[in-house]
Amino acid sequence: MKLTIHRRTHQIGGCVTEIESNGFRVFIDFDEELPGALTNDLNPITGLTSGDVARSALFITHYHGDHIGKICDANPELPIYAGETATEIFKTLENRLSYIPDPIESAKRKQIVERIKTIRPFHALQEIKVGEICVTPLLVDHSAFDAYMFIVEAENIRILHTGDFRGHGFRSKGLLPTLRKYATDIDFIISEGTNISKPDAALKSEHLLQKDFEGYFRKYKYNFVLVSSTNIDRLFSLYHAAKFAQRCFVCDGYQAGILRYVSSRHKQFTPFYDIDFDQKSNPAGRFFDLKRRGKEPLTFDGRLKSYLDRYGFCMPIRSTDLFKSITDEYHKSDESKVYYSMWNGYLDNTKTAFNKSLYDFIMPYNPVYLHTSGHTGAEKLAAVFDTVKPKQGIIPIHTEHPEAFKKKFPDYCVILLKDKEVFEVKGVMRLG
Ligand SMILES: [Zn+2]
Ligand SMILES: [Zn+2]
Repeated sequence: MKLTIHRRTHQIGGCVTEIESNGFRVFIDFDEELPGALTNDLNPITGLTSGDVARSALFITHYHGDHIGKICDANPELPIYAGETATEIFKTLENRLSYIPDPIESAKRKQIVERIKTIRPFHALQEIKVGEICVTPLLVDHSAFDAYMFIVEAENIRILHTGDFRGHGFRSKGLLPTLRKYATDIDFIISEGTNISKPDAALKSEHLLQKDFEGYFRKYKYNFVLVSSTNIDRLFSLYHAAKFAQRCFVCDGYQAGILRYVSSRHKQFTPFYDIDFDQKSNPAGRFFDLKRRGKEPLTFDGRLKSYLDRYGFCMPIRSTDLFKSITDEYHKSDESKVYYSMWNGYLDNTKTAFNKSLYDFIMPYNPVYLHTSGHTGAEKLAAVFDTVKPKQGIIPIHTEHPEAFKKKFPDYCVILLKDKEVFEVKGVMRLG
């Protein structure tokens, strides 16, 4: 078996991992550069972008752009696998972006939507065979919904690829029990290390973050939260925080569509995903979605406005003209607050990911920063390693500090690979 990390052994961002066994190839994730990152064109990769793809497949851990963004560069015949709900959310996002005025960007998004339609959806624990390689997805908690780790097995060698994950989300409780049950006999862990230098205590749990929002929503009547529309758990959390604080929840049709879709498929597993769309709950905690009128900015009209003005509300917003006038209108009131609930690196002009239009939109509102990372800290990473106990080693990816793995996990063999380096993987004798 041969293992190649084509990119991101020393950077945060999506990787292209390749596991090859007797001519069969499994690729995990196909990235787009993080916004603002320096780009160098990806060389052709046999079985992914060039050559024969009949014995290859691409598996997507989750729908963040740095993991799925380049799927249109993959050979059109290449089978792509991704989580079912994740695929639907990604398609909805790209479909919306395909209506933007920039014709080049719009055409690119339309092409992505067409490729998404070819994705073969999987569910957790479904074993998928690519020739003699077997891939098993394990559901994990991340700031993207329906995200997965993968167990890849061939030639009696078992590899766990973590994708992006965390231990402080709403669904993180299942992480170690899932690994204990299914990630057995693992030889290598290919592990993300975004927050390798951060203690877990520095990462606020989503649960506590919800409490913080609830406290603010009790204090302020009109609440606007700039949040990613694909950070699904955060959106549901905002709904619950608003409801507990006796405020309404109001969003646009796009976000409402995503919430309805996720709710219909997941509320049977937990009430967290159950939203009272029929508005039978108490008058103060009602859900509203705003119908768009062409390109007109969103407004509250007539009875809806007097209702929302009476009870107060939480509204997720995006940094576009659609939301600007309504945010401006309420921002004049002392009872209004604007929150920034995304990575603060986008607002830091010393970082390559700095997003000027986002900065220009949000900063005049003097926003409250309420956010927590989608990535695990070092302690949960250690708990994962100690649970799985990889027999042969740990290979860091998706990190700016791969060498920190050696310092933090001295009991394990940490293998620092270079981008594109081909690593020969050999099995070990198994007892019993
Ligand atoms: Zn990532
Ligand atoms: Zn991610």
